[in-house]
Amino acid sequence: MSDTRSFKNVISQKLLAIVIIPTMLLAAAAAIIGYNLTLKALTKGLEGELSAVAAMTALNINTLHPGDYELVGEEGLSLLKGGEDITRNYELVDMVGDETGLEVSLIYKDTRILTTITDKSGTRIVGTGIAEQVEQKLEETDGGIFYERTLIGKENFLSYYYPLTNSDGKHVGALEICSPYLPLSTLAWRPAMVITAMIILVMVVLIVLIYNHSKDSGSATLKLLKFTQQAAKGNDAVELDPSVLTRDDELGSIGNSVLEMHRALRDMMDKDALTKLFNRRSANRKLDLIRSHYVNGGKSYSVAIGDIDFFKKVNDTYGHDAGDLVLITVSDILQKHLKNLGFVARWGGEEFLLVFDKMDVKEAETKLWSILEELRATEIAYENLIIKVTMSFGVVCAPDLDQDEIIKLADENLYYAKESGRNRVISMIPKA
Ligand code: GH3
Ligand code: MG
Ligand code: MG
Repeated sequence: MSDTRSFKNVISQKLLAIVIIPTMLLAAAAAIIGYNLTLKALTKGLEGELSAVAAMTALNINTLHPGDYELVGEEGLSLLKGGEDITRNYELVDMVGDETGLEVSLIYKDTRILTTITDKSGTRIVGTGIAEQVEQKLEETDGGIFYERTLIGKENFLSYYYPLTNSDGKHVGALEICSPYLPLSTLAWRPAMVITAMIILVMVVLIVLIYNHSKDSGSATLKLLKFTQQAAKGNDAVELDPSVLTRDDELGSIGNSVLEMHRALRDMMDKDALTKLFNRRSANRKLDLIRSHYVNGGKSYSVAIGDIDFFKKVNDTYGHDAGDLVLITVSDILQKHLKNLGFVARWGGEEFLLVFDKMDVKEAETKLWSILEELRATEIAYENLIIKVTMSFGVVCAPDLDQDEIIKLADENLYYAKESGRNRVISMIPKA
């Protein structure tokens, strides 16, 4: 029993492992790849947007105030652009800021001169600087630089720095375009999480389906296993659950094949190869069963032994094959007559055991006479020849005796049938 249980568990576990492990790996791969791709796309998209706004702002300023940037004045410093003072010309940045919703600053050298960024009181954060390394990097590159996190005042921004150069090619400052900080990594996780959640959902559905399937096929497998175990132990009464046989999958086919194999094996063990009648071994068992039914309150039964008359002569005259054909023909006739009345078995060479269940000796004797009637009339065709045989029967009804004693009595009656001329049925030896 423990064997079959662990067998079932192994199947379920294997099926689940087939689904869970690859799906988990797939979900993890999807999450990592999804995160990286989304982060890349988000960074690129934002950088593109900020750089486009920066280029547009620079163009605006150049259009409105063509010329170079220049710092003048000794006390209050003023920034000139093309000779015009733009120090407090916030319109230059507000225009773009309003249009795009982004924060725009103009930085000269390392100082923020114009900006749309205000502190909590609404005052513009001017006069603050940019980090030295940003300045340095700007001088080194032709294009702008993107930073994922910049602290301006007390707020975090995503910033793009666009270099400002004068006509002599000298780097003089930068345009800073900022978007309020929202960690791209957090944003990038969202689609990855959705994909992962979907994969996990599919996995859960698959697990439920597989669990149900394996439970169902597991119980069918168990039934098959129990059947084969019992059959292997020689338990003839074992039956395979019909629910296994009607399945339209491999287990159903296996069930039918196993059953066929079991029947073939049972036939091989229980039946005579030539006549297909029960052999002596199974006849003993079947007669025991009928006897135990009687002992337990069932109806009486009668037993007969039949023997083909002068069978040796058939062999001697027509050959062994002809003898075999006679045996087969006689067996078929006996079987036909015994159908639903009991059973017939090949007891020995040309001897047969006939058991009439729920029948007294008179009924059995009548039945035997009608069998004999048919045998007498039967013509067995063999190689252009016609062979005819008769039989002698000894029959008794002694249900209380044990098997050997019953057979002995039937044999004695048979012997008397032979002695008194053959071709007859004897149920009682007349007193001398
Ligand atoms: P009786 O009327 O007294 O029964 O005479 P009998 O010739 O039938 O009896 P006997 O016992 O002398 O002969 C039986 C013969 O049956 C002998 C044996 O060779 C033959 N026999 C037994 N088994 C087979 C078989 O499987 N095939 C064939 N062809 N012959 C068989
Ligand atoms: Mg004989
Ligand atoms: Mg004999």
